Order: sequence, then C-alpha cells, then structure tokens
Amino acid sequence: MGKNIFFAKVRAQLGDRLLLADSSEYESSRGVWNGMHDRRPLAVCRCLTAADVSVVLQSAVAEGLPVTVRGGGHNVAGLAVADGAVMIDLSLMREVVVDPAARLASAQGGCLLRDLDAATAPHGLACPAGVVSHTGLGGLALGGGYGWLATKWGLTCDHIVAAEVVLADGRVVEAAEGPPGQHEDLLWALRGGGGNFGVVTRFTLRLRPVRDVGHWTSVYPLDAAGEALASYRAFAGGQPADLHTVGTLKHAGEQEWIPAVLRGRPALFLSAAWFGEQGGAPEALAPLLAGAKPAAVLARQISYAQLQALGDSSEPFGNRYFTKSCYLAELSSGVIETALASARAIRSPRSSIDFEYLRGAIADVPAESSAFPCRDAPYIYTASAQWTDPADDGENAEWSRHSIDSLRPHHYGGTYVNYVQDEADGDVSGIYGTGRYRKLGIVKGRYDPKNVFCHNKNIQPVLNDAATHGED
Ligand code: FAD
Repeated sequence: MGKNIFFAKVRAQLGDRLLLADSSEYESSRGVWNGMHDRRPLAVCRCLTAADVSVVLQSAVAEGLPVTVRGGGHNVAGLAVADGAVMIDLSLMREVVVDPAARLASAQGGCLLRDLDAATAPHGLACPAGVVSHTGLGGLALGGGYGWLATKWGLTCDHIVAAEVVLADGRVVEAAEGPPGQHEDLLWALRGGGGNFGVVTRFTLRLRPVRDVGHWTSVYPLDAAGEALASYRAFAGGQPADLHTVGTLKHAGEQEWIPAVLRGRPALFLSAAWFGEQGGAPEALAPLLAGAKPAAVLARQISYAQLQALGDSSEPFGNRYFTKSCYLAELSSGVIETALASARAIRSPRSSIDFEYLRGAIADVPAESSAFPCRDAPYIYTASAQWTDPADDGENAEWSRHSIDSLRPHHYGGTYVNYVQDEADGDVSGIYGTGRYRKLGIVKGRYDPKNVFCHNKNIQPVLNDAATHGED
C-alpha cells in the first residue's frame, strides 16, 4: 500500500521519469561504475529540479522507504544504489553556468567532472577536481576532491562557496558563507562530510585560472624503481606548488613511446603536471630527473581538459573494482620495498598502485574551517584492483587489502572517505577523528535527525545538540 502511494505521488511529479522494474530504461539506469554492485532499487527517480527531489524525498520518507542518492555513480562501494531502495537519480541534472567575471560556476548536483571542465575551459578557468572526467562532481566534492590542481589551489570541497540543498524533510535551503542564518554549519559539513546532510542540487564553485599544461610521464623498469622512488622522495617535499606529481605502479601498456621490452610488465610511471609560467617546468623537474635514468619520457603540452581526461579509458564503467587507500607519513625505504612487492604481486594487468605527494594548498586551509580531515597528510597511497571475471573477485580484493595492510606501520591519520570500499576500513569516526566526527554528528542531528541519508559513510546524528554544544 505504502509503495503504491509513493508511486502515485512521484508519478504525478516526474511522469515517465519514474522508472520501475518493468520500465525499459530501468536496467540501464540502476547500474553504477563498479560492476561488483549489481543491485535492484525499488524505483529510479530521474529528477530535473530541486522540486522533483523534494517531492521524491517527502514521499519516500512518508511511506518509510529507504533512499539513495546518485551523483555520477562512481563510488567504489556502490553507495548510489541499494536493493529495494528509492534511488534519487541526479544524472539528468548536469547544467553548468559560468560567471567568468566573478570566477564562479553554478553546477547542478548530477554533473560529471567533464561537464564542469567543458563549461569553464572556454573562459580559461577551472575548478580543481579529480583526475578522471567521468567521475561525479557530487560525491567527489562532498567527500573532498583530490586532483592535479590540489597542491596549487586545494581540494574541490575548498571551492564550494554555496550549495542548494534539499533536506530530509523536503525543505530546500541555501548553505552559504556570509551572514548568520545562511546555514554556515551545513556548508562546513558539506565540505568533506559526504552526502550525509541532504541532496545538493546545485553547487556554487570558485574557479581558478588555468592555461595549457606541461605534462611529463617517465617510465622505469621495476628493478630501477627503488632508486627512482628514492629520488622522488627527496624531491617531493620541496616541489613547488605549481608542480603536481603522481607515481603509479602498473603493467605498462602498448603505447608507442613505451620501450617494447617494458610493455605488458609491471613498471613505475612518474607523472608531473606544471601549472606555472611557461618554460619553468624543466628547471623545476631537474632534481627529479637527476636520479635514476628513466627508460623513456613522454613530454607534451596539453590543454587542462585533455589533462583531466588522461585517466578516462583505463577506468571503464562496469568492470569490477576493489580499491583501498591510506595516507602515509613518508615514502621510506620500507614503504618503497613494500610497494614494489605489491606491484610484483598484482593479480590483474588492469590493477594499479598510485601515490602522490599532497600538502601545498590542501594543508594551507585551516583544519577547523571545514569537515575535511587529515589536511596535513604528506602522501596518499591507493591500491586499485580492476578485473572483469567474477571468479577472480577474491584474489583481487585480497591483493588490494593486503597492499594497504602491509603498510600499516607507516599509515598516517585516517583514510580518505571517498576511497573507502568496505567495512574493514573501520568505523567512520576513525576517518574523521573523534572531535570532528562529533561535530559532524551535531550538524547531522540538526539537518537529518532521522538519518534518512544513510547510504554513505554514515555519520550518526547527535540529537541533544545543547548538551554537546559547549564542548566544541
Ligand atoms: P556516487 O556513487 O553517485 O555517490 C557517492 C556518494 O555521494 C553517495 O553516498 C551519494 O549518495 C553521494 N552523493 C553524490 N552526489 C550527491 C549530491 N549531489 N548530493 C548529495 N549526495 C550526493 N576522488 C578524488 O578525490 N580524486 C580523484 O582523482 C578521483 N578519481 C576517481 C576516479 C575513478 C575512476 C573513480 C571511480 C573514483 C575516483 N575518485 C576520486 C573517488 C570519487 O571521489 C568517489 O568515487 C565519489 O564518491 C564519486 O562521486 P559520484 O557522485 O560519482 O558518486
């Protein structure tokens, strides 16, 4: 009965954008990026406006139906879809409006990163975001948002100036910086606290100037990787903010610039992107290249949009993925040895280990000014398993788990909430730390006291706010 009332109310608002199991578009709409999560929602509600989202939410809550929110559907844990739940699907909400004079973009909550880049690039502007352009802006920005511009300008969440949010009770509010009454507490929580507080239907994002980017990738055989990584360690801490570097251990591809002898074998790739004055990069990179001699280097000048799409084809929709991640205090000899052992043990040629030096502008933002934790982490390290045959699930997940567990003595702080795949990562308070988690719980208690938004890395609402207020 409750379900039928829900269907009637939502159909009156969405019409044929309400997809049920017998709808022709249901099958294609329920899938998410990680093919491990084959789930069947009760309904997929394809929203176009905040008013649509509000009606779906109020109707679901009134009938006691669980809800999930889908941005880009890229979360490794498949948080956007759950069996039997109502999916609030934002994938039709991808409009971006740019105000170049104010250097602001207004982006709907279902945008992919490529939508944002396509709209801002003609103005020579960008919002710092992740490195694969088919990732959703919603989940990425609400959980943090590392990317090529992070050391120069900070995280995506640091660029959220305001947000239009549909709350659990259906109200539509604007959270913004500024005078009291603008839900500043909500804005604080949206900058790193994930999708716990409401459905963001529109982000207002600060933009930064960008132009063409100098990009270098050097490749080393695994037996030279230890020496190269020792050079990288010496270099990384002092690298200029205009330079962002990423290391990857993976099987070398068949590209022409890669020496034939390395193709199909595990190898080290060091990549660098230069955002400073033209011509400044070779000088900045010299100390790194003075170490172990790479087997080959690919150097090119590319547009920012091209840079953002470099990783697209290696992370296709629908393959099976298992990702675990940690922060590291340093790239010590022990870490390097362990990482190389993991690279040798990779189970699937599509899998990779990625690490990058962080800090810079990420760490310049005061720790208490946003919900995002662990701003001072020196390195992030990720072991991403990717394969296609379900029979290989166990060994690939185990490889990723073991890669991170074997570095446990070197872990630093919590984990990055957007790379958490399973419960073995511990509870959410460990991600944020006790004090920050409690503050998030208080904000959750104000905006979502019944925990309607629970398909995320869930923050438990603190309901007697007054009792805990003074302690913060
Ligand atoms: P979804 O699966 O749609 O949603 C994830 C969570 O966010 C869910 O809980 C959902 O309910 C919530 N959510 C999404 N949109 C909204 C919204 N508008 N309002 C409220 N809640 C919402 N992270 C980085 O920091 N840097 C990277 O470079 C990076 N690269 C990646 C590359 C790939 C190939 C993948 C798969 C992931 C990458 N990530 C990266 C991780 C990424 O940040 C997370 O997967 C993130 O959750 C993706 O957001 P989404 O909207 O696509 O996810």
